[in-house]
Amino acid sequence: MTEGEETSTTGTLASAMLAADNVVILTGLRMGWEPGEEEEWLRKEWRVKATLDAFLTEPAAFWEFYFPVAKRIYERDVHPAHVAVARLQKAGIVTSVITQAVDHLHARAGAADVVEVYSNMRTVRCARCSEVYGLPEVGPLIEASGDGVPRCASCEYPLRPGGTLWGEPLPQDQVERAWELATAADAFFALDSDLRTAPISLLPSVPLTRQVPLYIVGREPTQYDRYAELVVREPAHTVLGELAELLTPRA
Ligand SMILES: [Zn+2]
Repeated sequence: MTEGEETSTTGTLASAMLAADNVVILTGLRMGWEPGEEEEWLRKEWRVKATLDAFLTEPAAFWEFYFPVAKRIYERDVHPAHVAVARLQKAGIVTSVITQAVDHLHARAGAADVVEVYSNMRTVRCARCSEVYGLPEVGPLIEASGDGVPRCASCEYPLRPGGTLWGEPLPQDQVERAWELATAADAFFALDSDLRTAPISLLPSVPLTRQVPLYIVGREPTQYDRYAELVVREPAHTVLGELAELLTPRA
């Protein structure tokens, strides 16, 4: 991409954001990740090993896979992409943020009222007594358990991840909010999402059926590309950084 094209792409997206009163963005699971980073487990292993079925039938194997992966995500730092989104929202350019990410980094970067459609993996909880534990507390609980399954310190019931497992229904309140926001949008941006996983893969159809423009930024082709006002085939963080520079005053 030449410098001129870059300017015009960012300029088009910036104009679209400024022209709309209700800018809603949907960010994908890997927002802020570098291309190729840990892609292997995300694409394959996660969908096999971090499932509701694995959790229920082979809990020790589930935790053996889930805990170190969740811990790596827990320890991730806010990326400039998250900072850019928070800046755009604080400046009133972006109205609402919906995310498929489970790392809670949008909120940690300062974005408000983020809809986390898969919840997040920063906690685990007891399904019996509702006690909530921070993820780092799980390591000692696994070690103390003797069979690899962490148990509630209060009632000894096996703990479960706070977020949504593969194969499990999404949190209803978050999904409903996502649909309400998409319905109210007058510009909708899908950023770093391959838009493949239902039901969130259906979300862009909400603005489209109302003739609201859809903008797609990301490396992965999506089923909505042909309907989008503009498709930018590159990681969203570059574009987001440029938009934040262009549309928000320097901090
Ligand atoms: Zn308990």
